[in-house]
Amino acid sequence: RSLSMQEQNIVRSPYAEVSVPDVSLIEFVWEMVDKYPEHTALVCALTGRKYSYAESRAIAHRFAASLHKMGFKHSDTLAVVLPNIPEFPLVLLGAIEAGCIATTVNPVFTPDEIRKQLRDSGAVGVITMPEIYSNVSKAVSMIEAERKSKIPIIITPGLEVQSIPQGAINFLDMTHKQIDTSVLSAGDRLNTSSVVVLPYSSGTTGLPKGVKLSHRHLVTNCLQFEMSVYAKPRIKRYSTLFTPALYPVCDFQEVLPALLPFYHIYGLLSLAIASLYQGSKVVTLPKFEPRHFISTIAKYRATILYLVPPLIQFIGASPDVKSSQLESVNTINNGAAPIGPNDVERLLKKAPNVQFFQGYGLTESSPAVTILEKGSSKYTSSGKPIPNTEMKVMNMETKRNLGPGEPGEICIRGPQVMLGYHNNPQATAETIDNSGWLHTGDMGYYDEEHDFYIVDRYKELIKVKGLQVAPAELEDVLRSHPGIADAAVIGIPHDRSGEVPKAFIVPKEPKLTEDDVKKFVVEKLSEHKHLTGGVQFVTTIPKTLSGKILRRNLKEMYSK
Ligand code: AMP
Repeated sequence: RSLSMQEQNIVRSPYAEVSVPDVSLIEFVWEMVDKYPEHTALVCALTGRKYSYAESRAIAHRFAASLHKMGFKHSDTLAVVLPNIPEFPLVLLGAIEAGCIATTVNPVFTPDEIRKQLRDSGAVGVITMPEIYSNVSKAVSMIEAERKSKIPIIITPGLEVQSIPQGAINFLDMTHKQIDTSVLSAGDRLNTSSVVVLPYSSGTTGLPKGVKLSHRHLVTNCLQFEMSVYAKPRIKRYSTLFTPALYPVCDFQEVLPALLPFYHIYGLLSLAIASLYQGSKVVTLPKFEPRHFISTIAKYRATILYLVPPLIQFIGASPDVKSSQLESVNTINNGAAPIGPNDVERLLKKAPNVQFFQGYGLTESSPAVTILEKGSSKYTSSGKPIPNTEMKVMNMETKRNLGPGEPGEICIRGPQVMLGYHNNPQATAETIDNSGWLHTGDMGYYDEEHDFYIVDRYKELIKVKGLQVAPAELEDVLRSHPGIADAAVIGIPHDRSGEVPKAFIVPKEPKLTEDDVKKFVVEKLSEHKHLTGGVQFVTTIPKTLSGKILRRNLKEMYSK
């Protein structure tokens, strides 16, 4: 029987199927803690504050019990507005153990941006730290006024400031040793298909939306990822009950500097979830400072680096980074945005013994989808589908599945594909079709060996240093300026950031200058959304009859 059009050209994972245990994320992450209770789980590179595995599990557990006592219920959403500090994973796992959903918020967001996420996610509590309390409390006050109800704010230890603002709740009071945790053991078992995290992504179009990921999504993606990266047994690792044959217990502890933000799914899964599940030491870095980052790698003898292209370029190109500082590193992974082969080669010159991986993924797929095979030197490829994953490349017009070498829209099917967007059935239906395919909005192709290449985006999304910028959000803000009649935003290539946003503006007010527009954005939005790509004044924004901005035309206008 000849294959139907729908069944042709589906690329399946070359890796053995992973069987996913029906356990909660909490059982999964803490599974092996009793084998290494005294090992350091989390340490702050800035303050030195640290927690062993036994302490981490106990603190998260007490935090969960205290949330229960405060009246938070199953499926309540809590917003976590924190940079990478050791308490972040504890807060996250505690909230999840209490049956709550954690929506992770970029800690550099302006009060207005925080407010939008609190409102959209329906968050009923916030966890933050002293240094960002002021922004958070402004956002919370606005939401309290709208809802006419209180939103408790919980404060973790800070980096330099430790004072607890009046009216806020101290994380340390919620997690001290006397906390009675019996309320939890009396509780129901966690439902493994319930939502645990709600990170935000704009998907293929429009404003940022909450992406619903369950226990099962995160557990699955950890196992899918590690089965493809460590397809052959690596002795230097802890055992897990779930994959006992592959991993004998031993004393080696991987060390991972956590620089990628935990609030983004790439940092969250690789550095908070998978690394704790694997018994690694996670060294948290709250912000990127080149020298400190490199000295942290050397000081803690880091073994695995999860990076994005600007960091790989920095390590390869900076004369301040010496091979000797990278001596301990055995693995480097790139993700979140495309990397050039020259950048990888420069990196490997400095760290010749490192195993280089590149992965491709999206928030909507928990995030990992493909990974470059061990030892492959196809540095521009994102590799092959990870276990339990099917992929295809579809012609957007004919809807035909394409063969090797033909670029089209990348589609994904697998257990890591999100449950859907929060409160947005329409966007969900436009993204996941009836056969379960996630339409990524990415343009790419695969070669004869089934290695995938991401070449461009059909979707509007702009990625600045691997961070999402939704043109629709910027356009909304720009249109709220009294001197602006209409606006459109596109991403343009940028040496260091990959891409940066550029605005096309139809002015209402003839005196409006580029500076006025840029300043307006600076006041309202966080740095990666600033108009670094400049402002161009135009008489009209090209649109389709239905009013959709023709971004391709703007991109062509820019490249001319
Ligand atoms: P996010 O949801 O923020 O992780 O963004 C997902 C998007 O980042 C994807 O749809 C791609 O456009 C882009 N992306 C992620 N990984 C890669 C990669 N390895 N190469 C090229 N683009 C990537």
